[in-house]
Amino acid sequence: MQEDDALTRRYREILLEIGEDPRREGLLDTPKRAAKAMQYLCNGYGKTVEALVNGALFASDTDEMIIVKDIELYSLCEHHLLPFIGKAHVAYMPTGKVLGLSKVARIVDMFARRLQIQENLTRQIAESLRDVTQAAGVAVVIEARHMCMMMRGVEKQNSVMTTSVMLGAFRESSSTRQEFLQLIGGGR
Ligand SMILES: [Zn+2]
Repeated sequence: MQEDDALTRRYREILLEIGEDPRREGLLDTPKRAAKAMQYLCNGYGKTVEALVNGALFASDTDEMIIVKDIELYSLCEHHLLPFIGKAHVAYMPTGKVLGLSKVARIVDMFARRLQIQENLTRQIAESLRDVTQAAGVAVVIEARHMCMMMRGVEKQNSVMTTSVMLGAFRESSSTRQEFLQLIGGGR
């Protein structure tokens, strides 16, 4: 039989610590599954935006705003290791180069699959998109529900946290910012 990896062994200890019996039938493979799930949810470590974009930058004359909205977002809060889930809306103003459409969602995933707080996640997505596209402006809005608020603590089940980062043209021009906010379903 194969030796369990370190993370699997740790999860078995956690089960013991919370008062469970890791030898009962329903839990026999739980440490291994939990370790695998955690590794998957944190697979954004060790990835870089450069490798992920992998040359999918295309020449384009457009200088109109490009928006990708309602990108599903799943992350883990760095304070409780509990999920926060929601949506990201991303926009940028290209300056000669546009990014392959799926790459925007991949950048969101790469940063979401690390331990995060929502504010830092929002900023990391915005800054890396600006760096990789040389865009004249980038806007990122994230709306998410945090399990650490819903399942514990204040137990506020319906609160949604909204964070935004506006760079370049989106910061300097209120009409550009307004256009973006309207297009993502606005009134915010
Ligand atoms: Zn938390």
